[in-house]
Amino acid sequence: MTETTSPGPAVGMVFLVGAGPGDPDLLTLKAERLLKATDVLVYDQLVSPSILALVPATAERIYAGKERGNHTIPQEKINDLLVRLARAGRTVVRLKGGDPYTFGRGGEEVHTLRENGVPFEVVPGITAAVGVAAYAGIPLTHRDHAQACVFVTGHLKDGTMNLDWPGLARKRQTVVIYMGLHGLSHLCEKLREHGLPDDWPAAIVQQGTTPRQRTITATLATLPDLAAAAKLRPPTLIIVGKVVTLHERLAWFVEQVTAGDKEP
Ligand code: SAH
Repeated sequence: MTETTSPGPAVGMVFLVGAGPGDPDLLTLKAERLLKATDVLVYDQLVSPSILALVPATAERIYAGKERGNHTIPQEKINDLLVRLARAGRTVVRLKGGDPYTFGRGGEEVHTLRENGVPFEVVPGITAAVGVAAYAGIPLTHRDHAQACVFVTGHLKDGTMNLDWPGLARKRQTVVIYMGLHGLSHLCEKLREHGLPDDWPAAIVQQGTTPRQRTITATLATLPDLAAAAKLRPPTLIIVGKVVTLHERLAWFVEQVTAGDKEP
């Protein structure tokens, strides 16, 4: 048993739950069961309204969402909030978009819970890369094109991405970039600089698995301009690699092609 850092009864429980990429049908059965029974919900911006609708009307809902550059509640406060709610004996569902351990800071949240002796469980969700690729008709590791698939964050720090460019700019590999829209030009430029050809396939998918899904397929040279012209709305996912060419033949989900052309 680990010693708790501060005393006090930890009678509640926190379920850290993945909500999947958007389509409510992609929730796990466990996530659905927990949502329908929860007492408190702490949720993120990426969780769709139809998933929130599963939560009982009597449950307390706390929005902890984060948008680029606009952190509604700082991460440490969210961590502390979960501890406080559990200490008050509540059953908490901490719901996050996609999978809680994939670029979701779920690890930090459960770390604080463990340090404070709060019991928790983690319910995985379908991460954006997996869900969005499926709905966009892009098999991430199709054996004719890729032996590996890498998930990276394209979040810009000081206007740059500190990534392992030689490791990413490999053929027979698919690279999926989360949070990359803002740094798309930088990303494409770096991959070309490190050896991928100008005509290497690349795609960006807006709001995948939802009725507003929109896929733009292009090349490393052309994607930044095409994406800018399309006025895409977040969240968006970038996929780089030969597998992108399969979209043309394997797309099955009906996309609203005009969605990104209109102003919100
Ligand atoms: N934990 C989440 C990721 C959080 S980071 C997961 O496992 O999916 C947020 C990023 O995820 C967004 O910037 C975007 O790149 C990606 N993302 C999440 N949902 C998406 C969706 N429906 N369509 C496209 N990208 C999505």
